[in-house]
Amino acid sequence: MKKTAVTVAMLAIATLGVTGVNAADPAPKDLQRVVNEAHARYKNLQDGKNADYIPILTKTPSELFGVVIATRDGRLYTAGDVDYKFSIQSVSKPFTAALVMTQQGPKVLDEKIGVEPTGLPFNSRLAIELYKDQRSVNPLVNAGAIAAVSLVQATSEQDRWNKVLGNISDFAGTPLTVLEDVYESEYTTSFGNRAIANLLYNYERLYSDPEEAMRVYTRQCSIGVSAKDLAIMGATLANLGVNPLTNKRVMNADDVPELLAVMATAGFYDESGEWMYTAGLPAKTGVGGGIVAVVPGRFAIAAFSPRLNEAGNSVRALNAIRDIAGELGVGVFGPNPK
Ligand code: GLN
Repeated sequence: MKKTAVTVAMLAIATLGVTGVNAADPAPKDLQRVVNEAHARYKNLQDGKNADYIPILTKTPSELFGVVIATRDGRLYTAGDVDYKFSIQSVSKPFTAALVMTQQGPKVLDEKIGVEPTGLPFNSRLAIELYKDQRSVNPLVNAGAIAAVSLVQATSEQDRWNKVLGNISDFAGTPLTVLEDVYESEYTTSFGNRAIANLLYNYERLYSDPEEAMRVYTRQCSIGVSAKDLAIMGATLANLGVNPLTNKRVMNADDVPELLAVMATAGFYDESGEWMYTAGLPAKTGVGGGIVAVVPGRFAIAAFSPRLNEAGNSVRALNAIRDIAGELGVGVFGPNPK
């Protein structure tokens, strides 16, 4: 085990009380209170708009809003629309990167995809040209995420898809399914992503047939999840790779810190610096309106609401999670009271 994982594990063991509740964590009533308050504070915020470049996402009811904390032992604290199934979109990306790490070791991410933030939008073609030695840049932008799908070791397209879906379901601790209407809407309009896949293939930075990678990637982004599912996926990372509902090990404990590092530097795309400055937590957003943030070794905070800002991040969700992190003082660089 690496030092970071050992430290987190030791901390967790040292603080486990007789009840099995992590004594270092806030009291359950405080977790429920901050969830309720963040939900109430932002439920009328109208800023931003639904993603529209995937036509069907304009139809998701914009007022939906859910907030969840899931602890590393699987307790849930919820407010609002936490069972509504929306498309996971880019929140899927770190979890497929985790699958690649599990299959081939963490170095493969660095060597074959890259781990540098781009400072550019999630769908940037320019970033691919700018980073000559790491042409897909990092696994959390579209280029790197499509490359990660192509790196999954599989015997056929069906097998690739089964592995991707099975892995994300394992993180959620429940069988997940694709929202077929979202898949159709995105796949038939994915000209930008198709350009990315072909550009990567041209530079020998895509490791399967480009159209196969496009289909599996787009299906991956169309998986339906609830805010609760996202919270459990994050709690699995907080729990060093073991799903708290099923107790199944989903990824190596040693790989979790590396994955969280990429989420910290690139999880919010070209807003990642601002996000880390104000919230201080590794996180991942998606244009479906979901966000999950991880308090390493402790719990996850997830939120969902469809209206997005310019960078493609949910306005209500990011505000709710940032407030909760500040109120609980759980930023990874130290308490970050607002
Ligand atoms: N499926 C979306 C796309 O490829 C994911 C983007 C996102 O959530 N930021 O464009």
